[in-house]
Amino acid sequence: MSNTLTLNGAVCTFTPGETILDVARRNHVDIPTLCHLKDTVPTGACRMCLVEVKGARALVASCAAPAGPGMEIETESQRVVRSRKMNLELLLASGSHDCLLCPASGDCTLQALAFRYGAGGTRFARRRPAHAPDASNPFLIRDFSKCILCGRCVQACKEVQVNGAIDYGYRGAATKIVTRNDLPLGQSDCVFCGECLQVCPVGAIALADARKKPRQCDMTAVRSTCAYCGVGCQVDLHVRDNVVHMVTGADAAPNHGSLCVKGRFGYEFIRSPERLTAPLVRRDGELVPATWEEALDVVAERLGQVKAQHGADAVGVLTSARCTNEENYLIQKFARAVVGTNNVDHCARL
Ligand code: SF4
Ligand code: SF4
Ligand code: SF4
Repeated sequence: MSNTLTLNGAVCTFTPGETILDVARRNHVDIPTLCHLKDTVPTGACRMCLVEVKGARALVASCAAPAGPGMEIETESQRVVRSRKMNLELLLASGSHDCLLCPASGDCTLQALAFRYGAGGTRFARRRPAHAPDASNPFLIRDFSKCILCGRCVQACKEVQVNGAIDYGYRGAATKIVTRNDLPLGQSDCVFCGECLQVCPVGAIALADARKKPRQCDMTAVRSTCAYCGVGCQVDLHVRDNVVHMVTGADAAPNHGSLCVKGRFGYEFIRSPERLTAPLVRRDGELVPATWEEALDVVAERLGQVKAQHGADAVGVLTSARCTNEENYLIQKFARAVVGTNNVDHCARL
């Protein structure tokens, strides 16, 4: 039998090894997910991606089920929609989901799915104990009352950043995401990369100063390149009124969404009044502002004097991981081809 199946009546081909969810996404069929995290092992934890496969006794978790030849799959059948709605109601009832006050409102997958499937939170009694929020991390607040235990933060920490600072802890209704020995995050193995913040589909992990900023849905994302090192991570700067309020990792090479603590949280320098805005030239022992022409003339004159008196190898060029690869290429070219020395080094070891 050829590698084809039907998805909502349409014939689709698949490659062996693809899941039903992979095939659906490739064919622009929207199967909702909460726990699924690209490039990690599927957990099937949230049950939101259940679909109906003809002949199967139960609904099938499409994120974990391999596509098979001849499958007839319905992604929005009555049975599927009923199951998703009840699942959403249980998730909403399991915590405290006061969207009006939540920093994730407008960017919350649970909120969006509750709207899509008309799910409210009143039919079921609250099942889980209230855990106090953890504000011990300087960058993040963890609000367990909004946690739906999807596990994306655990996978991001363990499988993407390979830090393993958090995992599931306790049992049954008391289950929560914990650090080693359930220490506050600020005293744990956490390296503050913020990967968990980026992947959390709800408001359970939020920026510590979220209330002082516009919500993410009220900002414009501007693609840029992180300026901290030579890796060239792609970032989205979330901007409102010409101010960067937040940075997220862009899903593009080389970082595919990941960032380190500097790239994600170290953006306050952008508006620092201490930033240099013009070259400085030392005159009579004092650094004074100059034009680029004046500054470059001084550099050319001094380098020329040193080379004339002591030879080209008396000059060394130290460049920076905070420049682009192209700038670093140019500066070594300048050292070798213009000055005539191979004395080039680079502070790659920040
Ligand atoms: S986590 Fe989502 S559903 Fe819950 S309160 Fe926040 S916006 Fe609403
Ligand atoms: S900030 Fe990074 S290291 Fe800390 S818990 Fe989140 S993913 Fe893990
Ligand atoms: S903190 Fe967020 S990502 Fe982690 S399990 Fe809870 S809802 Fe999922």
